[in-house]
Amino acid sequence: MTSEFTPAIGIDLGTTFSVLARLDDKGRPTTLVNAEGERSTPSVVLFDNDEVVVGREALKAMATEPTKVADGSKRDMGQRVYHKVINGKQYPPEVIAAFVLNKLRVDAISQIGPFSKVVITVPAYFDEVRRKATQDAGYMAGFEVMDIINEPTAAAIAFGFHQGFSRDHGSPDQTHRVMVYDLGGGTFDVTVMEITGSRYTTLATDGDVQLGGYDWDQRLVDLVAEAFIRQHFCDPREDPIAAGKLWRECEDAKRTLSTRPKASVPCDYRGFSSRIEITREQFEEATRDLVDRTRFTMCQTLKAAGLDWNDLDRVLLTGGSTRMPMVRAMVRQVSGKEPDTSVAADEAVAHGAALRAGLLLDKARGKPPAFHIRNVNSHSLGVVGLDPTTKRRRNGILIPRNTPIPVTAKRVFKTQKENQRSVLVEVVEGESASADECTTVGRCTIKNLPLHLPAGSPVEVQFHYSPNGRLKVRVNVPHADSEIETEFTRENSLPKEHLDGWRRYISGLEPTNYR
Ligand code: ADP
Ligand code: MG
Repeated sequence: MTSEFTPAIGIDLGTTFSVLARLDDKGRPTTLVNAEGERSTPSVVLFDNDEVVVGREALKAMATEPTKVADGSKRDMGQRVYHKVINGKQYPPEVIAAFVLNKLRVDAISQIGPFSKVVITVPAYFDEVRRKATQDAGYMAGFEVMDIINEPTAAAIAFGFHQGFSRDHGSPDQTHRVMVYDLGGGTFDVTVMEITGSRYTTLATDGDVQLGGYDWDQRLVDLVAEAFIRQHFCDPREDPIAAGKLWRECEDAKRTLSTRPKASVPCDYRGFSSRIEITREQFEEATRDLVDRTRFTMCQTLKAAGLDWNDLDRVLLTGGSTRMPMVRAMVRQVSGKEPDTSVAADEAVAHGAALRAGLLLDKARGKPPAFHIRNVNSHSLGVVGLDPTTKRRRNGILIPRNTPIPVTAKRVFKTQKENQRSVLVEVVEGESASADECTTVGRCTIKNLPLHLPAGSPVEVQFHYSPNGRLKVRVNVPHADSEIETEFTRENSLPKEHLDGWRRYISGLEPTNYR
């Protein structure tokens, strides 16, 4: 293998399914299948004694050994530990995600040879802490994460590629305004973008990290369980094994209801056995509020972009849950447009990430970029200050949400007393005026301030949002001649030595450990 060969790889690390794509020798994105021959891999990990099993087998084990299985780790990204204890162990969510990524890596290497550079996707709505956790997951899986990219942006790039937009370099083309509606397994994202020739500009973005296909599954589980209780006076949700099995059956039935008017769900518990029939109408009735939540977010995002439905050319649907007819009907009704399903719902995001990877590799080789991306930040960034009258912790917003990035904001802090040597700045993300209702990104400690500074000396702190939504902090103290140190300690982030330890362990797992 020569060092010149570096494939352009993009990974959609999904809550429920993950997809790996590469650019072929003609620069077209293609999905690589996993060792089981599937185009997407369930993001599920089974910890079975010494063996770690990822994918379909792990998903099956959810019904029989739920205590050994971790799924949906993406929903917990940014938390210190995954919400469930597995075999008596607490794993950070990004470690579970790293096992999933490593399975994709091992399977892809067996087909195309070794590689390490990748682009991984994140929901546009992910805050800085979750973005960092995703990059760390990639690192622990043995990758070099060249960049992270927002999922709707990736979907729009894949769409643009199929439409041939990226090929007519910079021509002063017509502008297409598209809304990307992405409803996956665990997250919901809406993004309004402008595509002009090969330029992709995000105008506004919003979403809900706690809304996805899972919630529809849950409603179906409840419908079936209630019917079962009426027949047999016991609740299959009480027992983890019965509940796990019911969940799988319901997810299946949900897919059936996308194409058929009714589905029947088998349910066994305490020796009773029933097939419970659910109609699409019942299912739609039981989930109407969920669809309404997405409608609300769509309207909000359009407004934030300063647009009207008439200004939009298309609504692109991505994510497996957009196959539900109720979603399509709602989109049609609220936008007055036929939703666009021309990009493959499950693969577009990975394809866009591979195109982004190709762009970065081209750039490193000195080639002109085939397209340009401009993003906005999805959450306001602020620093915590004390309200002098109420003594409450307040969020002083520096960079409001939906600001085009990269962007830099400065804030001048003043030292409180004479000869103060350090300043502590707490950085938060969120829209609330109260700091306690926002997410803490981290604490920035400015150390080694010059000696004998008078009280009230200015310390200028610069917050820089990179194009991928990651934050950098810089400090400037006028008249300082010595080096000022800034240490940005991130909330809930694994220390470097842990990351390295996990990387050695996870990326060292052999394909035989990896079914
Ligand atoms: P993520 O990116 O969050 O992993 P995906 O885009 O892969 O999610 O979508 C997975 C979700 O889509 C799951 O909740 C799955 O049940 C749902 N889904 C897939 N196909 C269908 C279908 N035909 N009808 C309804 N839901 C579906
Ligand atoms: Mg997805």
